[in-house]
Amino acid sequence: MQYISTRGGMQPQPFSETLLEGLAPDGGLAVPEQLPQVDAETLERWRALTYPQLAAEVLGLFATDIPREDLARMTDAAYADFPGAVVPLREIDGGLTLVGLSEGPTLAFKDMAMQFLGQVLEYTLEKKGSVLNILGATSGDTGSAAEHALRGKDRVSVFMLSPQGRMSRFQRAQMFSLQDANVHNIAVEGVFDDCQNLVKQLAGDLDFKRTQHLGAVNSINLARITAQTVYYFWAWLRATDTTGPQAVSFTVPSGNFGNILSGYFAKGMGLPIRRLVLAANENNVLDEFFRTGVYRPRSAAQTLATSSPSMDISKASNLERFIFDLVDRDPVGVVGAWADLDAQGYFDFSAEQPRFESEFGIVSGTSTHADRLATIRAVYEATGELIDPHTADGVKVAREYVEDGVPMLVLETAKPEKFAETIQEAVGVEVAYSDELQQMLDAPQRVVEMADDEAALRAFIEENALH
Ligand SMILES: *Cc1c(COP(=O)(O)O)cnc(C)c1O
Repeated sequence: MQYISTRGGMQPQPFSETLLEGLAPDGGLAVPEQLPQVDAETLERWRALTYPQLAAEVLGLFATDIPREDLARMTDAAYADFPGAVVPLREIDGGLTLVGLSEGPTLAFKDMAMQFLGQVLEYTLEKKGSVLNILGATSGDTGSAAEHALRGKDRVSVFMLSPQGRMSRFQRAQMFSLQDANVHNIAVEGVFDDCQNLVKQLAGDLDFKRTQHLGAVNSINLARITAQTVYYFWAWLRATDTTGPQAVSFTVPSGNFGNILSGYFAKGMGLPIRRLVLAANENNVLDEFFRTGVYRPRSAAQTLATSSPSMDISKASNLERFIFDLVDRDPVGVVGAWADLDAQGYFDFSAEQPRFESEFGIVSGTSTHADRLATIRAVYEATGELIDPHTADGVKVAREYVEDGVPMLVLETAKPEKFAETIQEAVGVEVAYSDELQQMLDAPQRVVEMADDEAALRAFIEENALH
């Protein structure tokens, strides 16, 4: 299996070569030359597998350059830290089923892919005899998932910038309580955009990037997208049986279009998915796109800070991989769309919009702060269960698309403990922390405070990076 660029300017590469970048040299995104296909017989055979075993099977279709027994060892290690079931399914009211993707160390779905990425990065670096220093900016979930996946590794270190005083107490504790020597938390005097600009400046200095072995594990990383396809297969296998209904629908709380893209890949591989329902919050550029065919990204200043903060995005970096299929995989069409966007601030596929549902199965909806609170309350009253604000956006939009005879699976992308203030506002209940979480909140913290200053960051990396 080889990978090509959505903009046509990359020699086909094997899976291992796409790990560090995701971004192709021509500015496009890496995609499989064609999606691997899974037939009904194979699906039936997969029913008996554990989650790590299933992950090795599915990822083996993408990572054909890695021996299967090595993959199996890595998927075992990746999901070993999950205290209970890796991906539990549970029913809530209104015929919906939640797919629990937040059982990992940071209580959000980013662990699902990042834990595997940590394994496969260390593995490929060992083969090459090289090292990698991950440089990233985070406003919360991605940074902590990366740090927990990479802590204690020999060949990878992490430099994670976050805006000083702008993360929740819980998010700070999740990152800053790590004492591992290869994890460097840097609290920058500024907002998230300042952090991201610092990363862009250093990563854009190709000489510095090369001498300091800098890399990224952001949401366009293809290994993350492929690792996320696994739980769509897992959930389908649990929600159906050999006699029951075959097609199911998924609702996906969405920001950068990474999670739902994995579902779209799974559908393209032959998994019987009827609909993929995209749930947005108030920052609903993607809902607008799927309803009208017009994509008009917003500026950072137009992006609202909401109570489902991990979905507060104004540009969906993975959308290009969907556009590539929409233009029948013709790079000229992709480049043309971005040229339109540069020239006029939007691109327009309204003529193709009916295909979004008929051909690709994607529909969408928006949930607001009031919807989120009402949904958390309604689920709590009906079932006694607390759901997090992002999952609540999913549940709200899922209810608009429930169909008779088609199971509706909603991806639970975080645990309520992470967003205690919103839960309190919705139901007036204090979220109880486990002993383990309480210990983490009380643990000593390790963080370097820094001015918004490129020279200072450069010096810090030169001194602390693996070489
Ligand atoms: C990252 C995140 C999302 C959005 O996922 P995308 O892949 O960016 O669409 C939704 N919910 C939570 C809790 C997240 O951390």
